[in-house]
Amino acid sequence: MSTVAPTDAAIDTKTLLSFRDVEMTFPGGTVALRGVDLTVKRGEFVTVVGPSGCGKSTLLRIASGLETASDGEAVMSTDRIGYVFQDATLLPWRTVRENVELLAELNEQPKAVRRKKAGETIELVGLTGFESHLPRQLSGGMRMRASLARSLTLEPELFLFDEPFGALDEITRESLNDELIRLFTETHFAGLFITHSVSEAVYLSTKVVVMSGRPGRIVDQFEVPFDMPRDPEIRYTGEFARLVGEISHALREGHH
Ligand code: ADP
Repeated sequence: MSTVAPTDAAIDTKTLLSFRDVEMTFPGGTVALRGVDLTVKRGEFVTVVGPSGCGKSTLLRIASGLETASDGEAVMSTDRIGYVFQDATLLPWRTVRENVELLAELNEQPKAVRRKKAGETIELVGLTGFESHLPRQLSGGMRMRASLARSLTLEPELFLFDEPFGALDEITRESLNDELIRLFTETHFAGLFITHSVSEAVYLSTKVVVMSGRPGRIVDQFEVPFDMPRDPEIRYTGEFARLVGEISHALREGHH
């Protein structure tokens, strides 16, 4: 076995998540996933698209450790995993700052440390000035920003997103997509993102993975060739539209 310290290049491409032949059969017999092979490396932002009920959330829950695969191998090479859900899951009686501090508080970080960290991540997501607001005083997009800030306090190496912007209007969603790309390029986490929107997938990701209907299998993968951070104008180019078209086609084929 080698004892040589990894080079910078090796660190940069560290595999953070590796699924080999993962199967998930729930008690009762529902087979949600079958034969899923997937890797996510540092520097990658991988988005999964697939029809409803094909096992996308299940895949993310296995990646987070909330659920255990019934067969195959799921290896997470970090315990710094962030998880953002479909709704912002903020505690209604806590202010933005108190919500953002929550995970650090549960990890028993000293008060001064978590206060500083919360201030930094609140600034990162553009919520400075709203620290004392309660969730109900915020828009849906701002609540999602607070949820992102809360996960960022743990400095995730692997960041899991379960369709976080699905309930937001298109303008808010586009601005959060740009925000997320900025966070990805500035804080260097690896992303695994679920969405129903193929254009959101192409815009955000370095790779798009297409799943079939249940039991969910990976039927196709597409590398996204555009530079990070993304130029918002790429959405209106022919190249972008062609890739969205190809992925949509693969999605329809896999649905059968
Ligand atoms: P998606 O996120 O793609 O919509 P899910 O991963 O939520 O799909 O679900 C995949 C399938 O597994 C669905 O048929 C769902 O009903 C089933 N399922 C999910 N969680 C459980 C569970 N805890 N027990 C039994 N069946 C489940």
